[in-house]
Amino acid sequence: MKKIVVLTGAGMSAESGIATFRDSGGLWDKYPVEQVATPEGFAQNPKLVLDFYNIRRKELLSSEPNPGHVGLAELEKDFEVRIITQNIDNLHEQAGSSSVLHLHGELMKAQSVKNPGLIVELTEKDNYEIQVGDKGSDGAQLRPFIVWFGEAVPMIEPAIELSAQADIYVIIGTSLNVYPAAGLLNYVPKDVPVYLIDPKEVTAYREGIRIIRKGASEGVAELAGELKKLYL
Ligand code: NAD
Repeated sequence: MKKIVVLTGAGMSAESGIATFRDSGGLWDKYPVEQVATPEGFAQNPKLVLDFYNIRRKELLSSEPNPGHVGLAELEKDFEVRIITQNIDNLHEQAGSSSVLHLHGELMKAQSVKNPGLIVELTEKDNYEIQVGDKGSDGAQLRPFIVWFGEAVPMIEPAIELSAQADIYVIIGTSLNVYPAAGLLNYVPKDVPVYLIDPKEVTAYREGIRIIRKGASEGVAELAGELKKLYL
């Protein structure tokens, strides 16, 4: 089976009603990134940051995977599909994708501020919030399990390895502005076909990319049709 490696960003979940990062009217117009997505912002005002992610979690709990997520999960019938996502939502998993690597953490998990290896699942609908004073088993405050700007990205190494092993590479709904994720394309071997699905123009430094200028749902349907014609 051919191995398809898919890199997804905020646009993947836009049609599920989750706001993107940089599109105008996006979430981050309302909440300055320095306040809610940096360790300094958390140190300065932990309540504001915890509340921000509590609201994101509540939003996620009432969201559903869109046909794009479902289409990627269905590709597993005919291909080995490995997803690398910059998204912190769990909509790929909800759609049934079996291999999802989260580069920037997971919204439905909390982490001890003292011990990054101490992770707590926030699965129950009535227990999804983190408050100031909520502690892990080590007695330290819990924080969202999110890679904030300025923090290390521990999953980048396995993501690089996966990118280097792709037979087919697909990029969906990312402005390719956030590093190191944006640099993953550099590790994809030169002879590997690359597809890019995005309704807007995205600058990707690579020759010969097959651009599908559509939203995730329509774009994945077109991709699936093309891949089946070419490889099955
Ligand atoms: P970005 O906001 O910088 O770029 C989003 C891209 O998605 C744009 O190129 C836009 O044209 C495209 N897009 C918009 N609607 C689309 C659609 N319907 N279908 C397909 N593409 C569409 O996002 P990014 O590059 O992922 O970087 C943002 C950072 O913010 C990431 O680190 C991510 O972790 C985080 N973030 C995550 C979520 C989430 O978990 N769902 C949401 C917002 C931001």
